[in-house]
Amino acid sequence: MQFKELPLHQKILKAVAEARFHKPTLVQRRAIPEILNKKNVIVSAQTGTGKTAAFALPIINLLFDKQDVEKDEKKIKALVITPTRELAIQILANFKSYSKYSNLRSTAVFGGVSLEPQKEILAKGVDILIATPGRLIDLHMQGNIDLSQLEIFVLDEADLMLDMGFINDIKKIEKHCPRKKQTLLFSATIPEKIDELAKTLLKNAVKVDINPEETTAKNIGQLLYYLPKKNKTDLCLHLLRNTINGKIIIFRRTKFGVDKLEQTLLKNGYTVASIHGDKSQGVRNKAIEDFKSKKASILIATDVAARGIDITNVDAIINFDIPNVPETYVHRIGRTGRAGKSGIAFSFCSPDENNYIKDIETLIEKPIKVIDEHPYPINKPKHTKKQSNTVSKHKKSRKSAASKKKKKRWY
Ligand code: ADP
Ligand code: MG
Repeated sequence: MQFKELPLHQKILKAVAEARFHKPTLVQRRAIPEILNKKNVIVSAQTGTGKTAAFALPIINLLFDKQDVEKDEKKIKALVITPTRELAIQILANFKSYSKYSNLRSTAVFGGVSLEPQKEILAKGVDILIATPGRLIDLHMQGNIDLSQLEIFVLDEADLMLDMGFINDIKKIEKHCPRKKQTLLFSATIPEKIDELAKTLLKNAVKVDINPEETTAKNIGQLLYYLPKKNKTDLCLHLLRNTINGKIIIFRRTKFGVDKLEQTLLKNGYTVASIHGDKSQGVRNKAIEDFKSKKASILIATDVAARGIDITNVDAIINFDIPNVPETYVHRIGRTGRAGKSGIAFSFCSPDENNYIKDIETLIEKPIKVIDEHPYPINKPKHTKKQSNTVSKHKKSRKSAASKKKKKRWY
């Protein structure tokens, strides 16, 4: 199927062609016609499948004929709520590119930058507003946002918004929108809590569910290294020197961990960029730009800072820390192997993280391949039920003894 077979305005198709999109992705083929039919739609599809255009294109199309109404006093007709500033910026760029042959105005508001410039743009009037929840509520409370004419309400990355604790904010915002409107919910996964939210916010919704059973892409190699915690940096350097090439994202659980690893890799001569929640917006944007343009070959990130950001052509992922939420593992490794390319994910598991691996393997319904041939091996834990409940000190010391033995072989 070609884009031109979708009932989209010629001027939108022209902009899509300029974005070098040849064919709509599966989620786009399925969601766009439903949205154009003004249905409430719940969409779940893996990260990187093109969900942004799946809502941006039909929204632009639905608003296309109204673009010149109240030209000088535009009211917000579509609102997209997304969890992070990076996503807001990215979604805005998408809307701007697809609507460039229209008079539709769009803007994004998010925290971490001053309010005044955002207020000024809002005062001039926009058709499409992209917002993170906190800043949206702030601006609404200060009287800078009028949602009374809203026609389309979009929740993007709903599962991440749930993880970040934004559910009540979303409900609060929704109360200020007209009751009669079209609501769209997009998510990589639909956990139970999202399903509950969807039931209260989206009446008679159409569901577009792409590959719900396939949680991890087949073209991603997954390798697991068991090692003592203190050797993780060494193994990371060892793999960077000997095994891993190209563009790499390293995930760490904490901001402190990101900063520490960045210092070490810089000292070892690598070009590194990093993002986490304590960094200013400008610094985060620059880090992403540097990584995209290959000025930096390694990006170190926390999950929240990285999720949903569109960084393509990543060759490898390193899970320096194993995520304690199994879905996060799936999101992380989804950064590689995009658009049919192959990718590889390396996971470093120290004894305190064994249970997380067990949960991940339950979620992805397969064991991750264990690599024993590395300089810092320890015994692979047996995933029997009994053992997984207790990682005793006794067991830990036995493991480290075993690791010493094996280490000798390597040095
Ligand atoms: P998701 O929200 O599902 O994670 P995105 O909307 O961020 O995915 O899209 C992922 C990448 O795919 C982006 O770089 C986007 O420009 C690209 N993309 C989207 N639709 C198409 C298409 N039809 N053809 C080619 N590339 C596309
Ligand atoms: Mg997305």
